[in-house]
Amino acid sequence: MKIVLASSNPGKLGEYRQLAMGRNLEISLLPNFSELPPFDESAPTFAENAAGKALHYSRFTPELVLADDSGLVVPALGGAPGVRSARYAGPHASDEENLSKLLHEMQGREGYERRARFVCVIAVAHPGRLLVVASDFVPGTITREPHGANGFGYDPVFFSSDLARTFAEISAQEKNRWSHRGKAFRKTVEFLIPPDFGVTN
Ligand code: IMP
Repeated sequence: MKIVLASSNPGKLGEYRQLAMGRNLEISLLPNFSELPPFDESAPTFAENAAGKALHYSRFTPELVLADDSGLVVPALGGAPGVRSARYAGPHASDEENLSKLLHEMQGREGYERRARFVCVIAVAHPGRLLVVASDFVPGTITREPHGANGFGYDPVFFSSDLARTFAEISAQEKNRWSHRGKAFRKTVEFLIPPDFGVTN
């Protein structure tokens, strides 16, 4: 099965290719992505953004299109950074700027107020039809300072008590096993390619 990713981000392609490894799936970037009319990702929910993006780009290719929207949700901050995770500190903010704004907003917050979750919604569409919307999350807490050098975004301050480390202190393989994106992707694939139920004829 062939899937094209509605993204121009080669890092995301690498992550999805690793997740697809060993499955009968070929994942590539949607050709000419940056020349296509852009999708306005300004909806207030991850699901609307992912579904809208998949549908929008599915009109430009005969292949299955996968789009996602993900981010960090901190209930004590009213759900922020949420759907604005990539631009929390401003429209062109870097990962470092977003992370330092988060740590600033978390100052003085203790105990359960430091709880957070990473959320990912994946949508798959086929010329103008939405086929799947799968979502999942992973719980954690926000540390007081960054730890670790792996991953991206808010990984250095996202502490998983299951792993006793931040997401920037674990390997890419471990992150794929535990992450919101890994979990949502496995649900998506299970829907598109149902597991073998042992029927032989
Ligand atoms: P998008 O899904 O590419 O729009 O990503 C939204 C933003 O959410 C990213 O730029 C990161 O700031 C944050 N984010 C999403 N997933 C992760 C993750 O796995 N680790 C760290 N930050 C993430």
